[in-house]
Amino acid sequence: MKHLLCAAVAAIATLTTPAVQAQGYPEKPVTIVVPFAAGGPTDKVARDLGDVLRRELKQTVIIENVGGAGGTLGAAKVAKANPDGYTLLLHHIGMATSPALYRKLPFKTLDDFEYLGMVNEVPMTLIGKATLPANNFAELRKWIEANKGQINLANAGLGAASHLCGLLFQQAMGVDMTTVPYKGTAPAMTDLLGGQVDLMCDQTTNTTQQIEAGKVKAFAVTTAKRLTTPALSKLPTLDESGLKGFNVSIWHGLYAPKGTPKAVQDKINAALRAALKDPELIKRQEALGAVVMTDARLGGAEHKKFVESEITKWGPAIKAAGVYAD
Ligand code: ASP
Repeated sequence: MKHLLCAAVAAIATLTTPAVQAQGYPEKPVTIVVPFAAGGPTDKVARDLGDVLRRELKQTVIIENVGGAGGTLGAAKVAKANPDGYTLLLHHIGMATSPALYRKLPFKTLDDFEYLGMVNEVPMTLIGKATLPANNFAELRKWIEANKGQINLANAGLGAASHLCGLLFQQAMGVDMTTVPYKGTAPAMTDLLGGQVDLMCDQTTNTTQQIEAGKVKAFAVTTAKRLTTPALSKLPTLDESGLKGFNVSIWHGLYAPKGTPKAVQDKINAALRAALKDPELIKRQEALGAVVMTDARLGGAEHKKFVESEITKWGPAIKAAGVYAD
């Protein structure tokens, strides 16, 4: 009897080893946590990707928005989730900027996640409410000079891409603005459209359609070079507008909690690689100024190396700005 019991326990243990769990993966819906509000640029990337991953994984993919604290709340949720491949995180450059901004970050960026591969790179644009009296960057500069101390700049919280870009913009202009944090740049855009805030720096994936429709004023792109996307190609760079060396573009990557079985990671990575070859996905991303990842950073190890290099790149500039959150 004792022997039988031992054999049964051993059999159950074998059935639940990571390798066996991975064989059937995914057997139930996979949740991708987006650490920002629904309808914003990170959310749009996740939903676009989720549509194709659904096909590749042959399983339901649920997008869960956990906005707040510049993306750190959503990232913390995934860091603490069960490492079984059913809770993933889609995050952007905030993975690399939050370590310099938060005194008590609720997770360790490099230790608490498995890096599953990067998704895309996205430029940003400097936009303003439609009623601003400036129609180009030179006029905006004059308006900023004339209205120092009264300008509102929207962002998605400390550590968000919009926060980094806005911080660098204020530094380059030598002007302090009042920052207004939201749970994502979707609600920030709503307020910009309503004229409650003046300016915002945000991904082209959120701004292109509003720029095309003339609902916001676009002053510049944040990349070193002008963009080729038809709707944005006429916009000058901030560098050529006088803010020498200004160059920010952001990226998205996919993560799982640390300890997710390697075989599960490999399955997700294979699905990601296949998804990013989808012609419709590529077309949709390009129309909004984004470039789907095709280089070595599609692999987990290179993805992690790149995030480490981004932490090194942005940390000093953020620390120099003296902005911290507890
Ligand atoms: N674009 C936002 C940011 O500033 C995030 C979002 O809402 O997707 O980081």
